[in-house]
Amino acid sequence: MYPAPFEYHRAGSVDEALALLTQYADDGKLIAGGHSLLPVMKLRFAQPSHLIDIRRVAELAGIREEGGVLRIGATTPHAAVAASALIHDRATILAEAAGRIGDAQVRNMGTIGGSLAHADPAADLPAVTLALGAELRVVGRGGERTIPIDQFFTGMFSSALAPDELLVEVRVPVAPARTGGAYEKYADQASGYAIVGVAAVVTLGGNGAVERARVALTGLTPRATRLEGVEQALMGKAPTGEQIQAAAQRAAEGLELRDLTGGGAAYKNNIAVVYTRRAVTRAVERARSA
Ligand SMILES: Cc1cc2nc3c(=O)[nH]c(=O)nc-3n(C[C@H](O)[C@H](O)[C@H](O)COP(=O)(O)OP(=O)(O)OC[C@H]3O[C@@H](n4cnc5c(N)ncnc54)[C@H](O)[C@@H]3O)c2cc1C
Repeated sequence: MYPAPFEYHRAGSVDEALALLTQYADDGKLIAGGHSLLPVMKLRFAQPSHLIDIRRVAELAGIREEGGVLRIGATTPHAAVAASALIHDRATILAEAAGRIGDAQVRNMGTIGGSLAHADPAADLPAVTLALGAELRVVGRGGERTIPIDQFFTGMFSSALAPDELLVEVRVPVAPARTGGAYEKYADQASGYAIVGVAAVVTLGGNGAVERARVALTGLTPRATRLEGVEQALMGKAPTGEQIQAAAQRAAEGLELRDLTGGGAAYKNNIAVVYTRRAVTRAVERARSA
């Protein structure tokens, strides 16, 4: 299907993008990689009359480290995140997950900011940024604010971004020593989207016990969700195979499962447990050698 007709505007700066967003407040939409928005427009689920292209706004792209924080511009494509030596070194899990998004075309066009703003319940980066404890810098008519990732995803395809706001940058704190992260996904074979995906970031103390754990799940629930029961079960414990298995068992606790084709609740709960165990196990292995 073809999208409904629209006017195309290319913003040259963040200020210009914000001005266009204000001008077309009622039916304007930002477009970055277009790999979520255009499919939705082709299905006519969205019919914006004005598309504001931010892809070429130089100040929105790029990856750098500053003051112990990785700063990733919103329009940085998944392929650049996956290939970044800095991200591999400082937040391996993010490079790993970005490299498993869709196919090469999707990774070349899709952007980190677009993925988070779209808040697709089957997307990979929402769970990964939750596990990493990221913060999002956004600007709007009212000025600038920083949204902790824990407060960002509010529901299926919805986020704390106001319609006149633009996501500028994803900030990932550089993890302390003896921290490891891993992302495990059971992917839909056709699209690569997560049927279930679990991201785990674990920090070990000097005695080898878990000092900090953030574990998040995507795919099965209406929005990416922290698995707090799993995190609590890991805290302060020596992460043996048995302990990780016992903690992973809590992945299914109170999950608000979304209506997906294929598999009943028992199956979904089971894959949540299995993928949590795999992600935590690998995160712990990486933490031990970090
Ligand atoms: C065939 C296919 C397979 C895919 N497989 C996967 C997969 O395996 N895993 C996965 O996670 N994703 C997958 N995706 C989605 C892909 O990663 C998208 O590119 C991404 O989710 C959206 O990024 P985008 O830059 O294309 O955003 P766009 O499509 O341009 O925009 C998406 C939404 O975000 C808004 N937006 C974009 N940028 C900003 C910004 N800076 N500030 C505020 N709002 C903004 C837009 O207005 C729009 O509402 C797949 C997509 C396709 C087409």
